[in-house]
Amino acid sequence: MQFSDFGLDSTLMNTVQHLGFSEPTQIQQQAIPAAMAGHDLIASSKTGSGKTLAFVIPAIQRLSKNRALSKRDPRVVILTPTRELAKQVFSQLRLFTANTQFKAVLILGGENFNDQVKVLEKEPEFIVATPGRLADHLKQGHFYLNGLELLILDEADRMLDLGFSKELSQINQAADHRKRQTLLFSATLDHAQVNDFAKELLKKPKRIAIEAGHTEHIDITKRFYLADNLTQKEDLLQHFLATEKSQQIIIFTATRSDTERLAKILSMQSLNAVALSGELNQSQRNQIMDSFAKGQHKILVTTDLASRGLDLVNVSHVINFDMPKHTEEFVHRIGRTGRAGTKGDAISLVGPNDWLSFKNVEAFLQQKITFTKVDGIKVKFKGLKPKKAKPEKAKIAKATEQKAQPRKPQKVIKKTFVDIQDAGAMKIIKRKKALSADQIEDSTKKEQD
Ligand code: AMP
Repeated sequence: MQFSDFGLDSTLMNTVQHLGFSEPTQIQQQAIPAAMAGHDLIASSKTGSGKTLAFVIPAIQRLSKNRALSKRDPRVVILTPTRELAKQVFSQLRLFTANTQFKAVLILGGENFNDQVKVLEKEPEFIVATPGRLADHLKQGHFYLNGLELLILDEADRMLDLGFSKELSQINQAADHRKRQTLLFSATLDHAQVNDFAKELLKKPKRIAIEAGHTEHIDITKRFYLADNLTQKEDLLQHFLATEKSQQIIIFTATRSDTERLAKILSMQSLNAVALSGELNQSQRNQIMDSFAKGQHKILVTTDLASRGLDLVNVSHVINFDMPKHTEEFVHRIGRTGRAGTKGDAISLVGPNDWLSFKNVEAFLQQKITFTKVDGIKVKFKGLKPKKAKPEKAKIAKATEQKAQPRKPQKVIKKTFVDIQDAGAMKIIKRKKALSADQIEDSTKKEQD
């Protein structure tokens, strides 16, 4: 299949050709015609699979072909969970709006509110945004969504995991009319809250499941190494930096302090490393991201802050110095390499503190992982044994006794957060319920560090 088979508007087709894309990726092959036919979509697709253009192309097509419902309101709103991903989406969108009369703006939490009000006054056709800040502008009447034609939710699973369901509902309700189309993308469709939410937002959606999060990314080779402790992790890291044939490298750590410490150690060895930490303000973070993207640094050391949304073809290696706390983050981290058909290596270090996360990743990938060894680095740690639940005599006796009692009616506890996969995420979300939308974006940033 070729892009020319979609019957795209000629300006749009010229842009596709100009950017050198000829064959649509799998998700594009399915999502573009379905979205162009006006269907709501619920789609899963792996990171780096071309999903951004799977919604940007039908969005531009729709605006080029249809008259606006309102002269003033935005026609397309694209929501993403993080600022980094929003910027990434925005940069791809801009390539496509450049040759059109459509204006596109980026509205992110943590940036100047009044500047954003001015930008919204210009009545853009496209808004790319993080949900908390956009909901704030909506509440204050800085724009209206009566004329919204297309609502796009990118990484809806993550937005819900981060506790943005209230803001998403507010945005949905402000644009609740018959002509609105909704495209929902999620790393996985196996997510109870996403499915509940889809019922609220989508009208008879087409379901597209190309490659679920756990499927193998054939361009990325994954290797796992055991380590006794932090010192041994550092030895392994030094070994990889000395022996791997690499271009750019992203190293993920669990804590902000390790991010800075490692970047310092590596810089002292003239390895041109830079730390991306949530403590930096937004413009400093942008600057680091930009300079890394331009190849001015060889190594970026970061927390999960950069696990999504960075589209860099020169990243040959991702090193998980620590395993991620949230299993799906593993897929997003390693998806920073092997972009757009290039090959990549993902190296993960597993110490005693990483063991639980490692087992979760192993289960998520649905494969038995074997560890690679490095000559000269002797590792004693062989993994933690699962605790066996021993049936205690007393417990058994109590259970038998209870069985004999007549059953009392049980209290039904209403579950507020459905299917959140680990207790850590649950805690974060519960705490965030008490915060305002804008605080959430700021605290999300901190949580990610
Ligand atoms: P995404 O999954 O949207 O983050 O896209 C990952 C990368 O694939 C980006 O660099 C896109 O520019 C690139 N890409 C998107 N569609 C295609 C295509 N049809 N052919 C080749 N590369 C593509």
